[in-house]
Amino acid sequence: MIVVVALTAITTYNSAKEDVLNIAENDAVRIGTIIVKHYQYDLFNKNKLNEGWSSLEIDMFDRHVKDFLSPFEIHKIKVFNSNSEIIYSNEMDIIGIKDKNNESLIKALQGKINSHLVHEDEIVDLSEEKQLNADVVETYFPVYNEKGEIVGAMELYVDVTRYRDEVIHRVTTSVVSISAILIVVFAISYFIVRMGSKEVKTLLDRLYNMAVYDTLTGIYNRGAIIEQANKELSLMKRRIINGEPPKCLGIIMTDLDHFKKINDTYGHQAGDKVLCEFTERIRQSLREYDIYGRWGGEEFVILLPETDHRKAAAAAERLRKIIMEEPFSINGTSLNITASFGVTCCYDPYESFDTLLAKADEAMYKAKESGRNRVVSKQ
Ligand code: GH3
Ligand code: MG
Ligand code: MG
Repeated sequence: MIVVVALTAITTYNSAKEDVLNIAENDAVRIGTIIVKHYQYDLFNKNKLNEGWSSLEIDMFDRHVKDFLSPFEIHKIKVFNSNSEIIYSNEMDIIGIKDKNNESLIKALQGKINSHLVHEDEIVDLSEEKQLNADVVETYFPVYNEKGEIVGAMELYVDVTRYRDEVIHRVTTSVVSISAILIVVFAISYFIVRMGSKEVKTLLDRLYNMAVYDTLTGIYNRGAIIEQANKELSLMKRRIINGEPPKCLGIIMTDLDHFKKINDTYGHQAGDKVLCEFTERIRQSLREYDIYGRWGGEEFVILLPETDHRKAAAAAERLRKIIMEEPFSINGTSLNITASFGVTCCYDPYESFDTLLAKADEAMYKAKESGRNRVVSKQ
């Protein structure tokens, strides 16, 4: 923002300076041309330098020029012949001086008008000249005779001090305007980005939740359970690589018994509530670091890190009892719910989770086959 404001200030200043230069240059050329038109013969043929003028004539001429210039803000006027000698100036004492190596003058004698802005503290000119307390535009331009040949040049100092305030005003106005515009643009962009990033974050959160959690029960879905199981197997592998004794990852697969009947008797909504209550009881029965999720329908998978086969079976038995012993209260109706459990334990992390789950599933179906509401283990 600072860079933009600084660039604006510089650009505005340069363009204002350019305008002032143009105005002053036009004034100088216009005024200079009128003087030349009226006094060309006197200036170039009868001048003081070649002693064609008496002192009276010079004074008269000088008065004429000064009268003519008085309405204009011209500080200084110099007329040069083609040898770069000053043949007239409103500062009489510099008449006759040759202005050597003055590039602007050389250019003017070659036919090129040129101007530049000089501030009061920068005016460096012929040492005999008085210092000016003003901003001036110094313009050099060629003087032509009737045949169109260059016979000399003129230098005029046009006072542009009066434009100082206007330049400052133009720079200040553009700096204030651009700052205000930038502040508004930044504020709007900030709010858009903030609102946008909030919405994006909400959307990402929603997508993440959809990808990881089951919408009905709020616990891990099948994909997340597979991911968690693979993480646990990787930890076991690391333990083996570090030479530590392997610990078993217990896997429980559980499926509600005759769940279809609940749906059929009490409706799908009641069935959903049973699934939620079932989830709550799993949560209550497990350790903090056990992992559980809905595998699909009324099937759930539980992962028990760092356990052994006996403890995993005991955990399944504990849960079975928690389900069976306390009837589910659904819409004011007390429902006796049971579930069947298949348990396996993994000591070899190089076994795939699919294989492990197939073992738990097989054990669970054995539990179903053998009358439901029971725990069956498989090594
Ligand atoms: P089993 O003891 O052999 O497991 O019998 P079951 O009736 O529990 O098993 P079955 O596979 O015959 O029926 C499962 C039912 O679960 C059928 C399906 O409509 C129901 N179900 C699956 N997902 C949902 C759900 O999200 N909400 C509800 N309310 N019911 C569901
Ligand atoms: Mg079932
Ligand atoms: Mg089922």
